[in-house]
This record gives sequence, C-alpha cells and structure tokens, in this order.
Amino acid sequence: MIHLKEYEAVVGPQVIEELYLLAEKVKGKSVQNINSTAVGGGVAEILNRLVPLFQEMGVNARWDVIKGGEQFYKVTKKFHNALHGKGETITPADFTCFLETSEMNNKSMEMNADIYFIHDPQPIALINRKEIQQGKWIWRCHIDVSNPDPQVWSFLRPFIDRYNASVFSAPVFSQELPIRQFLISPSIDPLSDKNKELPQEGIHQVLERFHLDPEKPMVTQISRFDYLKDPLGVMDAFEIVSKYIDCQLVLAGGEATDDPESQEVLAKTRDRAASNPDIHVLAIPSGSDMEINALQRASSVVIQKSLKEGFGLTVTEALWKAKPVVASAVGGIPLQVTHKYSGLLCHSIEGAAYSIKQLLQNPEYAKKMGENGREHVRQNFLLTRQLRDYLLLFLSLFHEGDVIYL
Ligand code: UDP
Repeated sequence: MIHLKEYEAVVGPQVIEELYLLAEKVKGKSVQNINSTAVGGGVAEILNRLVPLFQEMGVNARWDVIKGGEQFYKVTKKFHNALHGKGETITPADFTCFLETSEMNNKSMEMNADIYFIHDPQPIALINRKEIQQGKWIWRCHIDVSNPDPQVWSFLRPFIDRYNASVFSAPVFSQELPIRQFLISPSIDPLSDKNKELPQEGIHQVLERFHLDPEKPMVTQISRFDYLKDPLGVMDAFEIVSKYIDCQLVLAGGEATDDPESQEVLAKTRDRAASNPDIHVLAIPSGSDMEINALQRASSVVIQKSLKEGFGLTVTEALWKAKPVVASAVGGIPLQVTHKYSGLLCHSIEGAAYSIKQLLQNPEYAKKMGENGREHVRQNFLLTRQLRDYLLLFLSLFHEGDVIYL
C-alpha cells in the first residue's frame, strides 16, 4: 500500500497538504463507486488507486461492480460503440435486456452512501433508486460522447437528467444537460507498479520473457483488443515503417470482463500478424502492470492509434515515462499530446507511419518530445490532481452556490 505522503517526492508537499485540508471537509461522508468491471480498462485502473487513497484521507470510499450476463455485456458494448459514433444496430430486445439487468442490479446491489458515484453507461439505471436512496448522485462519463448515436443517447438521457451532477473527461465531450457538469480528466499513479521507475535489468527480463530483441527499436501499443483501438491499422502503419527501418512491433493487451468482442479482435490480430516475425502480439493477463511498465519503457516509440478514445491513459503512461508518442487526434488524446511539442498526432495509417519513422530517425527530436510530455503529465495528469478535483466535486454537491474556502 502506497501512502499519500509518498507522493510528496513527485508533486511537492503543498499539493499533499492541500489534499488533507480538503479531505477534512469531506471527512465522514461515504462515497460508493459503481462500475461494470473490476479489471481491464481505464476505469478499473483509476478506481483501484483512488479508493484506498480516499480511505487514507478519511473519506469513507468503497467500490462495487454490477452484475450482468453475456447478453447484457453484448448490449452495453454496442452502446459503448454507438456512443463513440460507430454504427450499431440496436434492437428493442437489446434495450429490454439492458433494462431487465439494470432492474436486477437495482434489486440486488447493496447501496448505502452519501454520494453515489456511477461510472459510465452500464450501471446508469441505478438512478432508479434515487427516490429510496437519499444521497447525491453523480454520473461519471469516461467515454467520448461528443458525437453520440442519437438512439442510444436519447435512451440514456432520461437517466442522466435525474443525476445531481455529471462529470466528463474533456471539454469537447460535454453535452447540453439540465444538470451540472464538471470537467475532470483522468490521471495516472506515478508510484504504481505500472508507472514507477524500473531497473534496466528488470526491463530486460521482461523483454527476454516475451522473446523481444533488446537491440531492435521497438514500437508498442498497449491496449485491450478492441476494434476502436485499431490493432490492424497499427500493423499496417508498422509495415510501412519497416520497409525503411529494421524495427519490431509489440501489440500487448488483455481482456476486460465487460467486453465480449475482445477474443474475436485478438484472433484477427494474431492472424494478420502471423506472417511477420517482427510483429509480436502479446495476450497478457490482467494485473501485468510491471510487464506493461517494462514494455513501455523499452519502447523507442509508443503508439496509440485509436479510432475513438475516451481519454487514453496508455498515452499518459507513456508520456510519464518520457516516451515519444504517436497518437490519433481523437477523444482526450489532444489534451495530452500537443502536436510537435509533446508527441505527434496522427489522422491516418500513412500519417502514423510517417510520424513513427520521423521519431525513429531523429532520436534527439524524439527525446525532447518525451521530456515535454513528462512535464505536461506532471502538471496535469497525476493522481493527486484528480483526487483534488474529486474532493472539490464532492464538496460542491453539499454547498451548491457557496464559495469553498480551503
Ligand atoms: N491496460 C492493462 N492491461 C491491458 C490493456 C490495458 O492494464 O491489457 C491498462 C492500460 O495500461 C491503461 C488502461 O488499462 O492503464 C487503459 O486505459 P485507456 O484509457 O487507455 O483505455 P480503455 O481501455 O479505458 O479504453
């Protein structure tokens, strides 16, 4: 267990002092986080770290996961894709399945808190308990809903409208809503196994274990196997680059328990990679934090070629490791990567290939970009900043219209 005090070394003592001051005002309040998966993906990643730190500060935080069958997760994955603007056929039976599972969770979920912090669309209908569960209700949206499918958005809207507040990750995601909106970007934990400094020897051991060549420049994408992360497009871009530069590609990721598509995407990725010995598709189990850390640190370039993205924590993680990043200009990524300053933004396979090549061929340029990226993350996307924003959010729920003095 890492204690809050230990973050002083990274962010300075004032930041930690301020967190304790704020927490003092929220002390005694209970906060129940609810989402749809305990492992895999950015939401679980963040909750894993935030919940114990809240507890350490005296905020009574807990985290629960809703239950659902295969069909429910197929439907919520369709919702997820459709909210990201991808065409999906959603039938009346899908909506019925969603409502039935929600009703089941409404009946079985033990809920007892001052603040209900509901993450993403899967558990959104828990708001049906608002009349019995007299707390403050927050809907925390982690995905890019700037251009949502109207059918799914209009289905969700009556639920959203009943919350006390909503939270989005980036200004471009905000929507016209009758409730208060907060813009809070996610963050990474600089001291976690995923992000802490690693000795060179440990990095080498991981490369060896995955049969990667420590001498060959490595381009890496860490992502769940999801069409929206575009692993096939990454391979296309890599093959353009590898005509000019001898390098290797790593596509590493696992599954999220709430994603029924990942097996299919992994199989297609493997098929496509089979004929190229320089492409390494690594299916890694959840909890492989040290391995992911090592792979990111061993990379010459980290790529995140998502077609759609919520925030893109993998980008934050790479920037924190001072890695040059090539990433699609989608979702929250442009908040993190300023083109030609803290990485290179791309809009196509060819664009990604051009940028990877540029970074591999200009190590000094690449290094500068990595350094700028690390500083940008230090200022904006570390866990302590998100803890502060959430504490302020909780406080504001009980002091609407008041000025809060620290
Ligand atoms: N991640 C992981 N194992 C995997 C794939 C991803 O631990 O197999 C982590 C990754 O390091 C990052 C998070 O899951 O911390 C993914 O968050 P991101 O915002 O990039 O994407 P999401 O999966 O939420 O769409």
